[in-house]
Amino acid sequence: MQGFYSKLDSSSSPLLGMGVGGDRAPVPLSLAVETEKAQALLQTFSSASLLASAGLGMFCVVADHTLQMSTIQHHLWLRAALDNATHGLVGLWSWAVVIGLRKKSDLYEVLLAGLLASIIDLDHFYMAGSLSLKAAVSLPQRPPLHCSSLIPVICLSLRFLMWIGRLKDAWCSLPWMLFISMATHHVRDAVRHGLWVCPFGNTAPLPYWLYISTTATLPHLCSVLMYLTGTRDVISTKHGVAIDV
Ligand SMILES: [Zn+2]
Repeated sequence: MQGFYSKLDSSSSPLLGMGVGGDRAPVPLSLAVETEKAQALLQTFSSASLLASAGLGMFCVVADHTLQMSTIQHHLWLRAALDNATHGLVGLWSWAVVIGLRKKSDLYEVLLAGLLASIIDLDHFYMAGSLSLKAAVSLPQRPPLHCSSLIPVICLSLRFLMWIGRLKDAWCSLPWMLFISMATHHVRDAVRHGLWVCPFGNTAPLPYWLYISTTATLPHLCSVLMYLTGTRDVISTKHGVAIDV
């Protein structure tokens, strides 16, 4: 076991001017951290990242068209299961664009994001007070987790609770993951039902092109917001640490 190394490790970073030879002038750590933050931000607009989000948009189009097939439309459970799986895959894919898949724990994170994007629909059953799918999909009004006003409330409350509980940096991205999972789900549902901005009511159904472009843009928006709020810095440093066994 060779222990830990980090992108900020002075022995491997020419930024710190302390590589082999050690005769270059040392660069302050703060500059290295700023450079690391800028690199993390640039990564979200890398060609690989942009390609991944374009692929996400295309996946939505293919999945939505597949769901329109009459064989699927005629089977309530199959339609609901595939629709929910699509929500999960969109959430999973979006979070993968935000963090980039570099190591095993990233895989667990994107799976969690997918799970969160999927389980939102359980509120249909909660509101129906029954496990009947027929009752769950024919509710007189939208179920609670589909209120889009709740997204900032839940994410900011979670951030606040984590700050109160002094949770470690490893959890810093959780509110953003929840944001991506809920936002992608709500935007996809909004093509049929509009966005429910309680207590003000529903918007008109979202145009299809707007849903696709918003879904493909959200991961990049999330990355920029994470950068602006300092989360991106923590996450990039976290992801720059590898365990060499
Ligand atoms: Zn839904």
